[in-house]
Amino acid sequence: MSHELPFEAISPWVSEPEDLRPALDTSLRADVVVIGGGYTGLSTALSLRQQGADVVVLEQDFAGSGASGRNAGHLTPTIGKDVPTLLRLFGRERAANLLRFADAAVEYTEETIRKLGVDCEYLPNGNVLAGVHAKHEAPLRRAADAARGLGGAVRFLADPELRERGLPPAFCCGVLEERGGTLHPGRYVLGLRQAALAAGVRLFERSALVALEDGAPVTARTSEGAVRADAAVLATNAYTTSTGRRPRAVAPLKVSLFETEPLGDAARAALGWRGREGVYTAHEVLESYRLTARDTIVGGSKVTRYAWGSGLAPGYDPPAFRAIEGGFRARFPVLRDVGMARFWSGWIGLTLDFLPQLGVGGTHQNVFHGIGYAGHGVAQATLMGAMLAERIQGREHEWEVALRRRALSWPPEPLRWLGAQLIAGALEALDRRTDRQIRATRGD
Ligand SMILES: Cc1cc2nc3c(=O)[nH]c(=O)nc-3n(C[C@H](O)[C@H](O)[C@H](O)COP(=O)(O)OP(=O)(O)OC[C@H]3O[C@@H](n4cnc5c(N)ncnc54)[C@H](O)[C@@H]3O)c2cc1C
Repeated sequence: MSHELPFEAISPWVSEPEDLRPALDTSLRADVVVIGGGYTGLSTALSLRQQGADVVVLEQDFAGSGASGRNAGHLTPTIGKDVPTLLRLFGRERAANLLRFADAAVEYTEETIRKLGVDCEYLPNGNVLAGVHAKHEAPLRRAADAARGLGGAVRFLADPELRERGLPPAFCCGVLEERGGTLHPGRYVLGLRQAALAAGVRLFERSALVALEDGAPVTARTSEGAVRADAAVLATNAYTTSTGRRPRAVAPLKVSLFETEPLGDAARAALGWRGREGVYTAHEVLESYRLTARDTIVGGSKVTRYAWGSGLAPGYDPPAFRAIEGGFRARFPVLRDVGMARFWSGWIGLTLDFLPQLGVGGTHQNVFHGIGYAGHGVAQATLMGAMLAERIQGREHEWEVALRRRALSWPPEPLRWLGAQLIAGALEALDRRTDRQIRATRGD
């Protein structure tokens, strides 16, 4: 299909691997069957395999074709909606534990990249939650103080420090997350895929789960084969509803990104941004920006879409693409001559409290799930794999307690759709107001 705007069906980060694994066309027995080949599924499979388990992964397309191969590549300790909300919902001790969990997730991911030798252009220069209007300064200072009070490795950056770092002038203050940075998400997920294959994980691609039958063993069926296993893992995040399990645990929200053309020497020099920190804005629905190793800017978010019945809203979305380009043009006037090379979309899995869920269900309590990273899953999904591996083997991972809470369910339709439209509409209206205030301040 031809598109008016340059569109990637998956993303510029990944394409179908040359060694695509064959589809499952037989009946197999395994210790564990993992559904989904993203960070969660591959990390779970690798951890289990390293401990001697016989693991099969079923992936409907190719491993890395979901959010893990489409995201913006910020390796971030951001967790939940924001720190003040965590404090309100969970109190001091539990909020502090969640922040420690998020830090541990970043460290575990860094260690995974190092141990496996994945060349994913990881730059540990942190990420900045940036104010784009003077009104953001007070809440960002409060957020930084609250996070520091809970032990978070963050620092408030006032305007002079941002200028000294060479961050673009549209960002007027910020909270620097000192842990984490940016990476090439596709190389990271394909690195996990290679490591899993090398460790002996049996991966079947183009092998969509069509039915999961309870029992001991549990049976995972594809159109042409089946895997019977002692345990199954749903590592399907935003796609979980399509498995028929946990239909109200996560709402899939579509998020769109762009990549610019390479900046070229003159534009790169004019831009500054020497430290290449990742940036997300303090809008209600954040905008994200980062430089890539090939000196392009990848950015977007800003607009989210929910589709009726937790379906997947279509990826090609010109109004969303124009909106994210509009955000970029407003924040980076110095790059006015730099063109958009491509747009793409992916789906994040949102739980009602914005926190990941690790749990187990099924009539034999052998269908595990690790889902719902609210758009912060590069680190948290990686650690989730290690946590799921422990849980499946009847042990409790040291970080499991941080995520233990009463799991909330999204309301049924039509309430869910109506709620999503109302919330998205209200948040986008607030952001439009912020953008109008910025333009008024600049005198545009
Ligand atoms: C546009 C975008 C930008 C993002 N930016 C960031 C960021 O900068 N930083 C950050 O931390 N997080 C970010 N995220 C979130 C992050 O990408 C996810 O949290 C993370 O990739 C989740 O990994 P996962 O393995 O759980 O899910 P996925 O990577 O989505 O993997 C699930 C897999 O399950 C497969 N599957 C689904 N149904 C079936 C089935 N029936 N049978 C077999 N297989 C099936 C899918 O094909 C998919 O490969 C972003 C997400 C998006 C969409």
